[in-house]
Amino acid sequence: MHILYFSAKILSVVSLLWLLISLGGAIMAKCAICEKGAHFGNNVSHSHRKTPKMWKSNVKSVRVKTEGGSKKMYVCTSCLKSGRVERA
Ligand SMILES: [Zn+2]
Repeated sequence: MHILYFSAKILSVVSLLWLLISLGGAIMAKCAICEKGAHFGNNVSHSHRKTPKMWKSNVKSVRVKTEGGSKKMYVCTSCLKSGRVERA
């Protein structure tokens, strides 16, 4: 029973790494203002088999006004909506 549990644990870690590598090619889904990033969990089927899953934060590439002009940043939509950044 313990061995079965342990092997399932290793399998989930390996597949999580695979998930990170396969999805990591895109832009890093992290907000430059609040540092909200991706978070991890499992897809759970009706039979309770678990598959690693990654939720990316809703991050947009925007030009933001700074004191020295403007700068391109990755900002999450909640920061954009709440007016924490001013778009250039
Ligand atoms: Zn944010």
